[in-house]
Amino acid sequence: MIQSYKKNFKIEEQYDTIIIGSGIGGLTTAAFLSKEGQKVLILERHYTAGGFTHVFKRNGYEWDVGIHYIGEVQRPNSAIRRIFDYITDCNLKWADMGRVYDRIIIGDKEYEFVKGVENFKQQLIEYFPKDKDAINQYVDLVFSVVKSMGSYFSAKALPPFLSRLLAGRMRRKYLEYANKTTYEVLKSITQNEDLIKVLTGQYGDYGLPPKQSSFAMHASVARHYFNGGSFPIGGSSQIIETIDPVIEKCGGTILINAEVNQILIEKNKAMGVLMNDGKKFFANNVVSSTGIFNTYEKLIPPSVSQKYQLNQQLEKVSPSVAHACLYIGLKGSPEKLKLPKNNLWVYPEKGDHDTIVENYLSDSKAPFPVVYISFPAAKDPSWSERYPDRSTIDIITLLPFDLVKEWQGTKWMKRGKEYEELKEKMSQRLLETLYHQLPHLNGKIDHYELSTPLTTQNFVNYKEGEIYGIDHTPQRFRQKFLQPRTPIKNFYLTGQDIISAGVGGALFSGVVTASAMQGKNLVKMVYKAKT
Ligand SMILES: Cc1cc2nc3c(=O)[nH]c(=O)nc-3n(C[C@H](O)[C@H](O)[C@H](O)COP(=O)(O)OP(=O)(O)OC[C@H]3O[C@@H](n4cnc5c(N)ncnc54)[C@H](O)[C@@H]3O)c2cc1C
Repeated sequence: MIQSYKKNFKIEEQYDTIIIGSGIGGLTTAAFLSKEGQKVLILERHYTAGGFTHVFKRNGYEWDVGIHYIGEVQRPNSAIRRIFDYITDCNLKWADMGRVYDRIIIGDKEYEFVKGVENFKQQLIEYFPKDKDAINQYVDLVFSVVKSMGSYFSAKALPPFLSRLLAGRMRRKYLEYANKTTYEVLKSITQNEDLIKVLTGQYGDYGLPPKQSSFAMHASVARHYFNGGSFPIGGSSQIIETIDPVIEKCGGTILINAEVNQILIEKNKAMGVLMNDGKKFFANNVVSSTGIFNTYEKLIPPSVSQKYQLNQQLEKVSPSVAHACLYIGLKGSPEKLKLPKNNLWVYPEKGDHDTIVENYLSDSKAPFPVVYISFPAAKDPSWSERYPDRSTIDIITLLPFDLVKEWQGTKWMKRGKEYEELKEKMSQRLLETLYHQLPHLNGKIDHYELSTPLTTQNFVNYKEGEIYGIDHTPQRFRQKFLQPRTPIKNFYLTGQDIISAGVGGALFSGVVTASAMQGKNLVKMVYKAKT
C-alpha cells in the first residue's frame, strides 16, 4: 500500500535500499531488488506515485501524463514485456492500438506508420516508390543498431574490473551509429528530403530534430514501434497499481509527499537520506531515480560533488526541450466522437524539421514545429466502463522554458493573469490544429487545461521542465558516467538519464541498476523465471 509521509513517520524495520523517486526507473529497480530479497523504501515528493506514469483527475475526467503508447509489449516474448510481467506478477494488461499506430501529417499529405515491419516498408514504398532501396536499407540499418544496443547497455552493469576489460568492445559497435546524427545517416542513404521528413516524423518521441539527435536514439524508437503500439488497459495508473503489491509483498514501502533534501554521505559512502523536514532515514544503499541534474546539483552535498567533479560531468550533457500539453475532456464516448486510436503528428508543410524548430524557438509566434495529438480514451478498452459517455484528448507541442521562466517561483494555479493569457493563446492555437484535423470536434469540448514547463517542474521536479531528462545527442551516448555506479560507495543512479527516455528506456535502467547492485545479469534471469 502506498502511504503518505508524515512528520512522525517511523521506519519500523531496517531497509536495505532507499530509492529516491517513484518513476518507472525507480519502481523497476525496487521490484527487482524486492524479488532478490531486499526491503526497499521508495521516497516520492509528489502527492501521487509513478513519476511520468501518473494520472490526474479533474471535473470527471482522467488524463495520463507521460504515456501515450508503448511498443513491443504485445509480443509475449519481447524483453520489455517479460520485464513488465516480472515486475507486476503478470497483472499489467495491454491493449493493441491496431493496424496504424502513427499518422504523420505534413501540410495536406498523410503518411501511415503501419504495424509489422514488412507492412511498414510496403506502405512507405507506396508513398515513395523511387526510394525502395533506401527504405529497405533504412530498415536494415535500424535493426543493426538495435542489435548492438544490448551489449552497449549491458556494459553499464559490469563491475569495474570487468568493465575495464570488456566495456570498450561491448560499446564499440553501437557507438558507430550513436556518434552520428539521424540526418547524417539518412542523408547517406537518400537525397529525398521529403522521405527524411517522414521517416523522422516521430522525432517528438525523443525530443530532438534529425540534425541534432543521435541516430541510435532514432533507431531504437523506430524499432520499438515497428510491431505497433499498445496502451495499458485501465490507463497508466495500472503501472503503479500492479507494481506496488509486488514491492509490498516483499516488505517494501512507497511513501508519497516525501521529498528528499540531500543524500547523507560519510567517508565517501552513502548512508541514507535527509528529508526536507530534517528527518533522516538510513539504509545500506541509496539509489537516485530523479534525473542526473537533480541528483548531482541538488541531492549530493556540494563538497562531495566538488571532490568528484560531478558538475564538470554535467557540462557534457544538456536538459532536453520543454513542452506544453493541452488536456482535453469531451462529452461523448470515443466511438460516438469517432476518435482514432492512432496518434497524429502534425507538421508544417515547408522546411525541414530542424529549420522549423529553430524558427519557432527564436519566435514563438512562428508555426508550431510539431503538434502531437493522442486519443487515450480510444486506446483503452476499459475507458467507457470507467468514464461512460466521456472522452479525452492530449495535444503536445514544444514550449521553451524561457517563455514561462518569469513565473518561476509562483504557485501552481495562482501564477497570475498574464500567465493565464499566455496559456489561453497557446490553447486556442492548439485547438485550431485539432479542429483542422478533426473538424467534427468543434463545439464538442467540455474542458481543457494547459500544462507548461512550470507544471513539469512543479510535479516531476525537472529543473527546466524538460520533457525527456537529458538530450539524446551523439555526445550523450559517449558519456561513461551515465551508468548505475557512481564514485560514491553504495550510491547508484537509475532512470531515463542512464539509458534513454521512454518508458522502455527507464524500465531497462531499473534492470541495469538492480543488476549492477546484485552483481548478476537480471535480464537473463527474467527469461528463465516462471512468472
Ligand atoms: C508528455 C510526455 C509524454 C510521454 N509519452 C511517452 C510515451 O508515449 N511512451 C513512452 O514510452 N514514453 C513516453 N514519455 C517518456 C516517459 O514517460 C519517461 O521517459 C519515463 O517515464 C521516465 O521515467 P523515470 O523513472 O526516469 O523518471 P520520472 O518518471 O520522471 O520519475 C522521477 C521521479 O522522481 C521524483 N523526484 C524528483 N526529485 C525528488 C526528490 N528530491 N525527492 C523525492 N522524489 C523526487 C519525481 O517527482 C518523479 O516522480 C513521455 C514523457 C512525457 C513528459
